Amino acid sequence: MSKCNIQPKNYKAFTNRNIQSIQQFEALPTEIHDAVQIVSRVMPFRANNYVVDELIDWSRPESDPIFKLIFPQKGMMSPEDYQALETKIRAGEPEAALQAEARNIQQKMNPHPAGQMELNVPKCQRGQSINGIQHKYNETVLFFPTQGQVCHAYCTYCFRWAQFVGVDDLKFACGDPQALVSYLEAHPEVTDVLFTGGDPMIMTSKILRRYVEPLLRERPGNIRSIRFGTKVLAYWPYRFLTDKDADDLMGLFDEIVAAGFHLAIMSHFSHPRELGTDAVQAAMSRILATGANIRCQAPLIRHINDDPEVWRSMWEKQVSLGAIPYYMFVERDTGPKDYFSVPLAEAWHIFTQAYSKVSGLARTVRGPSMSATPGKVLVDGIVDVEGHKLFALKFIQARNSEWVNRLFFAEYDEKAVWLDGLKPAFGEKRFFFEK
Ligand SMILES: *Cc1c(COP(=O)(O)O)cnc(C)c1O
Ligand code: SF4
Repeated sequence: MSKCNIQPKNYKAFTNRNIQSIQQFEALPTEIHDAVQIVSRVMPFRANNYVVDELIDWSRPESDPIFKLIFPQKGMMSPEDYQALETKIRAGEPEAALQAEARNIQQKMNPHPAGQMELNVPKCQRGQSINGIQHKYNETVLFFPTQGQVCHAYCTYCFRWAQFVGVDDLKFACGDPQALVSYLEAHPEVTDVLFTGGDPMIMTSKILRRYVEPLLRERPGNIRSIRFGTKVLAYWPYRFLTDKDADDLMGLFDEIVAAGFHLAIMSHFSHPRELGTDAVQAAMSRILATGANIRCQAPLIRHINDDPEVWRSMWEKQVSLGAIPYYMFVERDTGPKDYFSVPLAEAWHIFTQAYSKVSGLARTVRGPSMSATPGKVLVDGIVDVEGHKLFALKFIQARNSEWVNRLFFAEYDEKAVWLDGLKPAFGEKRFFFEK
């Protein structure tokens, strides 16, 4: 195991209950300060002292991407909803009335995107009902461990926001490692397990071991790769450095690799600044020293990273730190989507401008990709067919593996933000996968 030379940091969590203890926040101009407090009654807020002290540029919060990534913004609510809530607060209405109003607003915000509740739970797909296991694409099973359903900070654009504010209970989560083993035994088509959440890296290594060790010991089915979907590198790199069980976690990574599994840390980085601190760089090199890979993904988000230069420099930085750019996602159709969404056409241009300026080592990245109900749909190009502008699309993952990598076309629409806003090209009534 490689040594760690970084100074330890004691974790301090901030939620909307103790947001006033963030000195930098209290020093903000009243208008920005109060807006955050109002919106954080509706949208989840969580931060910590690393994010606050080392990532946010407090000298210009109105235009700081990391401030907007963590602190709920006024534009995330409709002006009517915002005003209704603000009026009640200013009128000094009782807490119960304010909470009821917040709940009411949350319910209007599409808390369950992309058929997530009905369609992806295995009972509908593959004849078995197990909470906490989502098996949508043949080769890869998602596993949601009970103890990994929160994060070290919340992204304002998170599509799981409904869970974090308690509109959804954590229906997906599973606390039984043996359920995963049995599922994998019964499904020899599965080669990859992806632990996800929330953030599975928030778990202590002791709990993580409870889920992982049975896989190493029993080698169920045809499992070859273990992945962790996480934002801990961006939000709390000390998890891999100086937390009291950091060494044990690195030991577990060593064991996974020694057992012959491919270990991939699927890291969510929204902005190159998250790759700039000594702590994150030390954490990345420590992870890589175990033999794990770091693959990087993020959605394209208005106000946060809607600029090709941001993506170009982020991908270059990832490669220079030994990580592998993987996906650029389109923001999902949930919650405050109007504030964050970038139209597909613009997303394609941003992707293409960034992609065309990096070395082939960074062109492992794919996107922009929509995680839609039928699968992951890539906007592959904007084409002109006999004077008619079209989107060229293809599945990079699909419920039906025969759909993968097959090009299909939709009418070009400058404003469309999601698959369900697109019309099939050539006058057809439905896309091929809807037949
Ligand atoms: C993205 C995703 C996966 C993993 O897909 P890869 O292309 O293998 O990274 C698995 N399951 C679901 C539901 C997903 O959205
Ligand atoms: S880290 Fe992921 S799950 Fe957690 S708040 Fe951000 S987007 Fe959501």
